[in-house]
Amino acid sequence: MAERKTRYDGIREHRPYTYNDLGDSNSVITEEFEKKCIKKADRTFSQGLQCQQINSLNALMSMEDSVFIAHSPQGCTGCATLGIIQYRIGQAHRGIREMKTPRLIVTNLDQKDVIMGGEKKLREAVQKAVKRYDPKIIFVFSSCASGIIGDDIDSILYDLQSETDAILVPIHCEGFKSKVCASGYDAALQAIGKYLMPKEAPKEKEKGLINLFSPASISYKDTVEMERMLERLGLHANYIPFNSSYEKIQKIVQAEASTSICKVFGDEFMKELYEEYGIPYSHTVMPIGIRNTDKWLRGVAKVFNKEEEAEEIIRQEHERVIPKLEHIKEKLRGKRVFICGGTGRSFAAAALIDDYGMKLVGIETPTYDADAQDDVEYLNSIHKDYIIDVANMQPFEQANLLQTLKPDVFIGVPTWASKLGYPTTHVLDMKRPTMGYDGILYLGEKISEQLSNPGFNKKLAAHSRLPYKASWYEDDAFKFIKKAGED
Ligand code: SF4
Repeated sequence: MAERKTRYDGIREHRPYTYNDLGDSNSVITEEFEKKCIKKADRTFSQGLQCQQINSLNALMSMEDSVFIAHSPQGCTGCATLGIIQYRIGQAHRGIREMKTPRLIVTNLDQKDVIMGGEKKLREAVQKAVKRYDPKIIFVFSSCASGIIGDDIDSILYDLQSETDAILVPIHCEGFKSKVCASGYDAALQAIGKYLMPKEAPKEKEKGLINLFSPASISYKDTVEMERMLERLGLHANYIPFNSSYEKIQKIVQAEASTSICKVFGDEFMKELYEEYGIPYSHTVMPIGIRNTDKWLRGVAKVFNKEEEAEEIIRQEHERVIPKLEHIKEKLRGKRVFICGGTGRSFAAAALIDDYGMKLVGIETPTYDADAQDDVEYLNSIHKDYIIDVANMQPFEQANLLQTLKPDVFIGVPTWASKLGYPTTHVLDMKRPTMGYDGILYLGEKISEQLSNPGFNKKLAAHSRLPYKASWYEDDAFKFIKKAGED
């Protein structure tokens, strides 16, 4: 937890040795990274990119008493449906009958606004949001369009602030700013730090309180499991910004420590909290699978000097869970797996499959950096030869790799793999536990069920056509990744 010389600017590419465009075997990538000789590259052909704005929106959309204004064309908010569904499902699982939907407003920038400016629309949107919802907080998200035309959202909101008691919070998440979608999370958390946090830490801390940084992708059952594990250490969680509120944000500074459910989410913000407010933190891994759950728990326990208690909990949990894995292993042992997911979750899933005796043949993840190298070094000790595709989306590479590697099961967003007929499942389940010791049992059952019931994807493959020529599947999946100086 050493103090940094320079402040993080919110753009992940600016962190040293961060790569977005990379594809090779695990051994080549780890060796070249170790020697610091991976050249920066770019894709000469690219099929879409998950953008920052959507991650900023999704990170915050479960905040109470808030309105979310996307200062953008309408299409930019298309993926917001995911955050909305996650929020609504989460409420249903908590037994909330009158479910809320996030109050999302789009200024709908069009061609005329791109020439004349979108300030008027933004002012009207803020005024309408205040009148209609009387919120405590209004978050305003910039976009490529508002960034390119130079709408100064900070000044506009500063000017409007005198008209309302709602706190107006600009979030700078123009899609073009970064190719690393996690930069969108950083933009959301930086805005929380700048506009909503108290300026000073209180003298008295709340005993046992830990900030638990989490995006909305954590399911209700995951929260139950995380709380169960924390409770065993005598701790309780303040979730930020998932299902959070203005009041919970004020409590951040009262916490004795911070941690995150994901290696990527909140990592920079936790450093800031340590530097600004002296709040120690544990930054380890996503607690999926036995090894990662142990590691996560040990990390949290260390900050609270409760290592002995953690070892006893781990011993008891292993005693409870590991014997139950035997019948899952019988069905899954030796099966070959391709994994696609966000950086934290995909590496966690790759460690998890070892609990079932499965083998990794390929992994697709958006970013590679020093944290990823740590994970991959561990993965190399349990899986022999596998392909790493560092890609934010890029389904054409995934389709090619699947047809080359022919895994027994695909874990991740299943759109393309299912159309190719592979049994698919995922470890991001909005309904059931994926994390902690309970998650290990549930996910094992889920993967084996999918393997024994592949009929739907087989039928889907028989009736679907992917947009690629047969020759693409014979080609080098990474032929469009060009390193600096290459044609
Ligand atoms: S902000 Fe930019 S990258 Fe993101 S959806 Fe809008 S146009 Fe696309």
